Amino acid sequence: MTIQHPLTPATAALKEEIERLSLCSEVIPFAPMAPRTTLRIGGPAELLVVPKDAGAVADLFALAEQHGVPAFVLGNGSNLLVSDFGIEGMVVSLRESLYKLERDGTRITAGAGLSLSQLAAFARDEGLAGLEFASGIPGTVGGGIYMNCGAYGSEMKDVVESSLVLGQDGEISVLRAKQHGFAYRHSALMDNGDIVLAATFRLQPDASAEIGARMEELNARRREKQPLNLPSAGSAFKRPKEGFAAQMIDEAGLKGISVGGAAVSEKHAGFLVNLGGATAADFLALMLLVRERVADRFGVLLEPELRFVGRKMEGCDVLYG
Ligand SMILES: Cc1cc2nc3c(=O)[nH]c(=O)nc-3n(C[C@H](O)[C@H](O)[C@H](O)COP(=O)(O)OP(=O)(O)OC[C@H]3O[C@@H](n4cnc5c(N)ncnc54)[C@H](O)[C@@H]3O)c2cc1C
Repeated sequence: MTIQHPLTPATAALKEEIERLSLCSEVIPFAPMAPRTTLRIGGPAELLVVPKDAGAVADLFALAEQHGVPAFVLGNGSNLLVSDFGIEGMVVSLRESLYKLERDGTRITAGAGLSLSQLAAFARDEGLAGLEFASGIPGTVGGGIYMNCGAYGSEMKDVVESSLVLGQDGEISVLRAKQHGFAYRHSALMDNGDIVLAATFRLQPDASAEIGARMEELNARRREKQPLNLPSAGSAFKRPKEGFAAQMIDEAGLKGISVGGAAVSEKHAGFLVNLGGATAADFLALMLLVRERVADRFGVLLEPELRFVGRKMEGCDVLYG
């Protein structure tokens, strides 16, 4: 179920100005969001734009503020549950933009829109180790830093030297490693609204063949354990301090349980998957059900890892506060 709202006068005025200033390679009203998320769920974004460059990103956010239009930055949509009622205001899609990739000694600088798999492959080809863990994470550089994504014992925190960010005040500045406030699946960007435009990674020299072998081994482990054949957003819940979410969901007997088209994966209980035609309402209801059953069984309240975006829906307040 998707409901299409008309462009608000403020968004219509913003659109006109963006077009007049030629800031974007694409400006799409009512852009369907489902194809822009790995879950394949969600109603339309009122206005989706693809900025031409980093300068345009700053201009877009300044204009949105002037027009009083909410703005959201989208990476590869691999950690997102988009509302069935869509997203109000402007969505700035960076995965189709900001692809810079440069090496300087043992450092690599990458644009925020570059995919983590492309970044990891470049590092491998350049004989620089440290990004193997990221090669199978289907996000962008910007989304990866925002989430402090990680796998197999490594996370962004271990390799990010600095980021070029656009602050809420409209200023572009450099954030040093410690200023990112990295913690488990958390960064200070979640609190301060900074937008990553590019990031520099500090890596170690190693033989490309060895780096490639490690990447292949980690990706083989993913293929073996994860339901990569079905749309998902990876782990739906964060790891609680009491243990592993997937194990608790499994031991609560929830593998395979479904609400509409949304189901707990039979292969990996931490993954909630779209079996086909799932709505955000199905997904929220399934997340609530899983959370309730795990709380009943283990007394542990699971916290969502995937982010909800868009117009509020039933269940959002309980899950997302
Ligand atoms: C099959 C599968 C496997 C996965 N495996 C892992 C895993 O092993 N480890 C892990 O940690 N995650 C994993 N994930 C989840 C996901 O890939 C990561 O969280 C990833 O970092 C999200 O990046 P993205 O570009 O897709 O961000 P999006 O989903 O587009 O956005 C996520 C959040 O980041 C913000 N954001 C995006 N770009 C920027 C930017 N430039 N500046 C500021 N904020 C930004 C968005 O506003 C949003 O709030 C997996 C997902 C899938 C589908």
